[in-house]
Amino acid sequence: MNRKIKIWVFVNIMVISNLLVSCSSTKKIVDRPIVFNEQRMQLTSEYMKNRYGLEREQPIIDPKMIVFHWTAIPTLEGSFDAFKEPTLPNWRPDINSVSGLNVSTHFLVDQDGTIYRLMPENIMGRHVIGLNHTALGVENVGGTSETPLTEAQLQANIWLVRHLAKKYDIEYVIGHYEYTHFEGHPLWLEVDNSYRTLKTDPGNDFMEKVRAATQNLNFKSVPKKIK
Ligand SMILES: [Zn+2]
Repeated sequence: MNRKIKIWVFVNIMVISNLLVSCSSTKKIVDRPIVFNEQRMQLTSEYMKNRYGLEREQPIIDPKMIVFHWTAIPTLEGSFDAFKEPTLPNWRPDINSVSGLNVSTHFLVDQDGTIYRLMPENIMGRHVIGLNHTALGVENVGGTSETPLTEAQLQANIWLVRHLAKKYDIEYVIGHYEYTHFEGHPLWLEVDNSYRTLKTDPGNDFMEKVRAATQNLNFKSVPKKIK
């Protein structure tokens, strides 16, 4: 082979192998567990009982919903650290009456699209008021003006929706900013009408793209807001 042909063959092999990698759904989930010790399990069970009136031996969930977030923290390590410990930073059981259970999420997607699983999928996380008992959480690293969510993250989130919809009877796919639309819905169980926080993550644009790409899965539309 002359040199030109050799280069041509090499380039083609590279293109074909890249195509194979991107098309074959080789995406995998990397387990990187946060601390889920006895204390966290107990705080999770207490949260389930106090906020939702659900008394279960284990804080097990029945996932009917996926809730998407951004961490508003620019790095994977910083984001992971926010979820790692069992209790909220600065929580003191002697002075705080609210739950000290730290926030958590089932999945954390890095800016390069790598999907990490932080905790068992069937245990309740704390990431969305009113709906944790039925919601799988997907957090995305970034969401600040310097670190907007990336195309790789969008594609990883779409892949994850398809993957989870095969495993569970998922009815709703929502952005965190939409959670209050479920007030009054049968899935909404928060007992305190004043316990709300204002959320904008992960942005309407991101959710529109996720929904457009998963239209064939026929998820239910988000209920109209009552108030
Ligand atoms: Zn959020």
